[in-house]
Amino acid sequence: MRGEQTIVNKTTQPLAEVQFTLTPNYDTRIDLPGAKLAHDDTRLLYQTYSLDPPMRPGEVKVMHFDVKARNRGFENSVTNREIVQNGTFFNSTIAPQIGYQPTNELTDRNKRKSFGLKEKDLMPTLEQNCTGDCMDNYLSNNSDWVNVETVISTSPGQIAIAPGSLQREWSDSGRHYFQYKLDHYSLNFYSFMSARYEVARSEWNGISIEVYYLKEHPWNVPKMLNSVKKSFGYYTQNFGPYAHKEARIIEFPRIAAFAQAFPGTMPYSESIGFIANLEHPDDIDFVFYVVGHEMAHQWWAHQVVGANMQGATLLSETMAQYSALMTMEKEYGRDAMRKFMQYEMDNYLRSRGTELLKERPLLRVEASQGYIHYRKGSVVLYYLREMIGEEAVNRALRKVLGQHGYQPPPYPTSYALVDALREQTPPELQYLLQDLFYDITLFSNRGLAATAHKRSDGKFEVTVEVETHKYKADEKGNETEVPVNDWIEVGALAAPEKGKKYGNVLHRERVHMTSARSSYSFTTDTLPEKAGIDPLLLLVDRVPDDNLAKVTLR
Ligand SMILES: [Zn+2]
Repeated sequence: MRGEQTIVNKTTQPLAEVQFTLTPNYDTRIDLPGAKLAHDDTRLLYQTYSLDPPMRPGEVKVMHFDVKARNRGFENSVTNREIVQNGTFFNSTIAPQIGYQPTNELTDRNKRKSFGLKEKDLMPTLEQNCTGDCMDNYLSNNSDWVNVETVISTSPGQIAIAPGSLQREWSDSGRHYFQYKLDHYSLNFYSFMSARYEVARSEWNGISIEVYYLKEHPWNVPKMLNSVKKSFGYYTQNFGPYAHKEARIIEFPRIAAFAQAFPGTMPYSESIGFIANLEHPDDIDFVFYVVGHEMAHQWWAHQVVGANMQGATLLSETMAQYSALMTMEKEYGRDAMRKFMQYEMDNYLRSRGTELLKERPLLRVEASQGYIHYRKGSVVLYYLREMIGEEAVNRALRKVLGQHGYQPPPYPTSYALVDALREQTPPELQYLLQDLFYDITLFSNRGLAATAHKRSDGKFEVTVEVETHKYKADEKGNETEVPVNDWIEVGALAAPEKGKKYGNVLHRERVHMTSARSSYSFTTDTLPEKAGIDPLLLLVDRVPDDNLAKVTLR
């Protein structure tokens, strides 16, 4: 790879040196006008260049670099799986990165100990009014939004993909060439891919949709196209415009099992969707879901990106989860959601039990705490949507995008989102923001008894006796019971129809609970099978499956 990159001194001081972090497995050569290599740490791959004269504040320089994949003989195990025969996938971080990269630090506690290093602080502490740390976002250090233009060549018969619209395609000297250019400035974090792809094409309101897949793996491609379209429908209507002229889902080999969003391009592992068999009616359509999540990142990460501190992933991962939940609910209905939300809840509760460091509240989630920003994030946002309504949540999200989308630093923190949600929350529900974002809040809800009495008009008078305990947990998992003063639902479900997991909801009602035990009465049209507290499991509940008691007919 040969690259040209514009750098600028954005500080208020003259810079006498520039430092670069290089990438293992690649040999890198940097050419920066007026710079001399002053220090070259070949073990830690860190270079310092001295500038004489120093770079003035605001001064711009154009640097050039070469990056060459290094192969040394035959390895015991393959160290570079990015550049392969059919399914190459590497990202922009193989280019030299400006400055020190804290993400390269050792994280393993024991390894750190063996080197005499103290425990690693994960991310900078969340600040309400941040200074220095908000000048960087958590995904690309020392960079603003960038324009990218690429000429990339690959073997004949393969398609190579870079960010942006295809400008030109040609063959020369036995190589297949492509030229791409971003249509909108983007995060300095983008990918390159090449394989013998088939391409499925569609479009949504003039935006081209492309799925790049291997001929052998065609099964879920229609689902992916559908999910991209449904995502465009919901996100453009509720969040704001999309900035690119295309959206691409691109298969890569199962050297890794993830999908990831780059500007307009979304690499997606073979093993988490392309080869999935989703024919069983009970299967959660995670292909639709994952595509919805990655598409949402085109707004949440690629338009609004969090400052490099705790809580950053609330603005990207939690928002992507929420967005995908909304598209999935529109596609599959509420019943399918209950199953998925239960999966998210179980995962959160199980994972917090194995946290080795500190469980953070959602507002301060660390970028490494997926069980919080994905799993708990889903549960929390879905619940908040139930409580204040979808339109209110989306008004808050539109405000955050309107204020912070594609803006220069300082980058927003998680407070930007929570404050916007607070504005949309009615006074009697303001306590939810404290419970859901600032604290770690858990419930232990139980349905103790439920009876029904058939009235003369054929309807049923249902009485439930319920118990609720509310707890706040600290970062180590110690729980303290706190008084209940919450709006919680009571309700009743019918017996599930044959082949279904959940019965229809016969009644849902939000009541103000102020004591651990209480009883409520309501009317249903038909005889419920079960009744009790929080029937749809919207609250984080330590024991979720005892909320409903079997209804006995009096
Ligand atoms: Zn994500």
